[in-house]
Amino acid sequence: MKTKPHTMRILPALLCTFIAVPSLASTFRQHGAHVHGFVIYDIAQDGTGLLIEIYAPGMDVVGFEHTANTEQEKSAMSRANQLLNDSLSIVNINAEAQCSLTDSAVSLVKSSFEQPAAQDIHNPFVEHSAHASFDIKYQFNCQNPQQLNDINTSWFQHFPATNTIAVNYFTDKTQNATELNKQQTHIHLDN
Ligand SMILES: [Zn+2]
Repeated sequence: MKTKPHTMRILPALLCTFIAVPSLASTFRQHGAHVHGFVIYDIAQDGTGLLIEIYAPGMDVVGFEHTANTEQEKSAMSRANQLLNDSLSIVNINAEAQCSLTDSAVSLVKSSFEQPAAQDIHNPFVEHSAHASFDIKYQFNCQNPQQLNDINTSWFQHFPATNTIAVNYFTDKTQNATELNKQQTHIHLDN
């Protein structure tokens, strides 16, 4: 039986002096978290403003994480961009809150990898490959933010490779975290 592969972590202490101090935002938000099958939703409501930010591995969305080369890969990427830019395909906010989309952005960012130990054995090469995540932002304006209590996501229908969505939410009423799966797709913001 093989032991868990050792993950090398090089800490170039000397270089630290030359690296800019990380901003509070980057410390707070773990942009580096990248696990296939695992998507993150960060939801922030402040007054009439509602921001939903989604981080998803490229593998979950298009099935690859390298630069799109073939025609098939390019069209998969373009379909994904189109779908992800349409917030209604991804999230549905309870109608009473009267939220309308004011802005959306989809970008692909390179990310470090956090691999569950059990999967390392199946693919020893994965640690050496580059990984990429989709960063999706939806900005809404809600006329009735006090009525905001439910966000349902259709993510799992579009991207069956995702097993779990970890949700962090921060509203005028509460701050909490929850997990979604294929059976439970509603975020109850009252809890
Ligand atoms: Zn990856």
